[in-house]
Amino acid sequence: MNIKARDFKKIVILTGAGISAESGISTFRDANGLWENHKVQEVATPEAYARDPQLVWKFYSMRRIQAAKALPNPAHRALINFAANAGSEIHLITQNVDVLHERADITGKLPPLCMHGSLNQSRCTHCETVYLDDHAYFDLDGNYAPSRTELCSAEERTRDEYLHHYKLEYAHFLPLSPCCKAPLRPHIVWFGEIPFFMAKIEKRLRECDLFVSIGTSGQVYPAAGFLQVAKSHNARTVCINKEAIPQSHMIDVFLEGKAAEIVPDFFA
Ligand code: NAD
Repeated sequence: MNIKARDFKKIVILTGAGISAESGISTFRDANGLWENHKVQEVATPEAYARDPQLVWKFYSMRRIQAAKALPNPAHRALINFAANAGSEIHLITQNVDVLHERADITGKLPPLCMHGSLNQSRCTHCETVYLDDHAYFDLDGNYAPSRTELCSAEERTRDEYLHHYKLEYAHFLPLSPCCKAPLRPHIVWFGEIPFFMAKIEKRLRECDLFVSIGTSGQVYPAAGFLQVAKSHNARTVCINKEAIPQSHMIDVFLEGKAAEIVPDFFA
């Protein structure tokens, strides 16, 4: 079946770590699910944060530094170009926290629903206020050394919710929120937590006529179930990935290969 995105009116795109692989951000699977000999589940859970918040902040500081060094690749840019020029209604949902979709989108045409949160945001653990925060509180050697990364744009840094207070507001080497002086946590959905925007996502999945998944293994729920929801509401389904995924029987068109090569063609 030879179809292109431009043939459809209401498109939902779901992206996973694979779309950022060619920007140099490794998927957890590529790294054997490990970070400095810690299983990712040991640093990306509410229990891990309760046990050792500094370790968790070291992990997320490293990820902020890594993401800030990366640049959007042709797959990120192709989605933005398509949104800017197509007559279709397009919704982008990402499991990625790396901010690369936003950094590819200087005109703000395709704001993603970041269902697993964002590396450029932190949240007060007391009142849940969310702040724009692109500080790496620890350097790559694990030393406390807050420094700004490039994860927030210049415009975001001028907003009221941008966290300017980081140098003053810490105790026990943890960043504290300006609102409650309570510890800040990364605004990331950890294992065992409920992803953001689920009601909005469900609605969009029910209404779309094309669902495209890009660079996601189909193993992390609830995102892994989106294809089935869209399919059961009569959407055509396309998967762009380097390997087959468990939901292959529900895919109309499987485009095997690198996202940076296939996405620009499918979304031309
Ligand atoms: P995942 O479950 O989304 O799997 C990645 C998939 O991408 C795999 O099937 C792999 O074969 C495929 N892939 C790898 N390189 C590709 C390429 N160049 N082009 C197309 N496909 C490619 O991701 P995961 O790494 O198993 O992570 C699980 C969870 O952690 C997800 O929420 C994921 O999004 C998140 N995560 C996010 C980032 C990020 O923000 N960039 C990085 C690591 C993990």
